[in-house]
Amino acid sequence: MIKLTGITKSFGRNQVLKGIDLQVNKGEVVVILGPSGSGKTTLLRCINYLEKPGEGQIVIGDSIVDCNRASKQDILQLRRKSAMVFQQYNLFKHKTALENVMEGLVIVQKRPKDESRERSVRVLEKVGLGSKLDAYPSELSGGQQQRVGIARALALEPEVILFDEPTSALDPELVGEVLEVIRKIAREGITMIVVTHEMSFARDVSNHVVFMDGGVIVEEGTPQEIFGSPKEERTKQFLKRIT
Ligand code: ATP
Repeated sequence: MIKLTGITKSFGRNQVLKGIDLQVNKGEVVVILGPSGSGKTTLLRCINYLEKPGEGQIVIGDSIVDCNRASKQDILQLRRKSAMVFQQYNLFKHKTALENVMEGLVIVQKRPKDESRERSVRVLEKVGLGSKLDAYPSELSGGQQQRVGIARALALEPEVILFDEPTSALDPELVGEVLEVIRKIAREGITMIVVTHEMSFARDVSNHVVFMDGGVIVEEGTPQEIFGSPKEERTKQFLKRIT
């Protein structure tokens, strides 16, 4: 389970997160929607301390971190329990697909190389890249590179995968293959938090939808509730604009 309580974050005088409470149960897929600048990416980045939150508490599994007195050890623990899939893939350009996936297992998790290679091959096959193990990122399409990014996150077997607009850098014709892979792993019961602007994907993949605006959660509920009968005016306006 993941539980966020009272998470705040400011950049200088700009308070971007104004006290976020969110609970994500094991196996749930939570989609975060909201207009540009509402704080969605910042919230994801706070969960694994790519951004240091101001106040609040983050619980992932048995790690409990109070943000205003987190130790290095606490932060390391949180990072081990989550994996991020980035908008721009963030692959090592001079490493092959296989080496990119192995890196976190060998260097961060200190697993033996043989075991790491085996597991990496398995997850690359799962995302449909079994024939591209030795390809460098420059030899792969954007969709394939993002699938390597997803394989890299999956290989770590984290408690939660955080997806930050995973298809927004892709040409439209490559979006479908990446969403399909995310759908597939969602069906396997992996806990996910997904920031996306892909509404039909959000509607059919999520168990829970969160609508953010201005650094707060305005409304949350099942996809049926949020897409079918949103209660808040801001949610209605946003959905009207985007769908
Ligand atoms: P989008 O859908 O456009 O990605 P978002 O909802 O993910 O938007 P964030 O990227 O979290 O929004 O940004 C929220 C606010 O925080 C914005 O006003 C942004 O300018 C500001 N911000 C984000 N990162 C930084 C940073 N590193 N330094 C200063 N300000 C930042």
